[in-house]
Amino acid sequence: MAKGLIKGLGITLKHFFKPKVTVQYPEQRLPLPDRFYGKPEFYYDKCIACNMCVNACPNRVIKLETETVDKKKVVTKYDFDQQYCLFCGLCEEACPKDAIKFSKDFELTRYNRPDIKIEFVQPDQVERKKEEIKKAAAAKAAAEAAKAKEQEEQKPADAGEEGS
Ligand code: SF4
Ligand code: SF4
Repeated sequence: MAKGLIKGLGITLKHFFKPKVTVQYPEQRLPLPDRFYGKPEFYYDKCIACNMCVNACPNRVIKLETETVDKKKVVTKYDFDQQYCLFCGLCEEACPKDAIKFSKDFELTRYNRPDIKIEFVQPDQVERKKEEIKKAAAAKAAAEAAKAKEQEEQKPADAGEEGS
């Protein structure tokens, strides 16, 4: 018995002087690899509602809804159901605008299942976007009207020059 005890203590002593491989999580954290996929981040203003991420996802994690305002698409919903995500990054790879990215935040546990789903789009963002589109359309229409008026005003002058 004493022999076994000494052997055990010997192993303990040997490991006591070796470099430590554990860290005191959560106070200490190990660096994560560059390509680590953690919590997703969505950049509303970059998204062009092309649906590429939705089509690339093998698990139907992303729900995208849009509305058309002045012939432009406005994203009204971008829900990300993390519980079904494989963290494969195919959506990020497919996105032409870098609108969906993965952070290094891996603490994704929640007490309640509905809280796992992330609803990225807020109503005020949608309203702001709609306003921006309407303003841009109004400005474009005003510029076109002014140009047409200018051309109209130049016509008699041109006609007069041709006649002389
Ligand atoms: S990481 Fe993969 S599974 Fe998760 S949403 Fe993107 S494409 Fe879908
Ligand atoms: S692929 Fe990118 S730009 Fe296209 S809908 Fe998805 S997040 Fe938006």
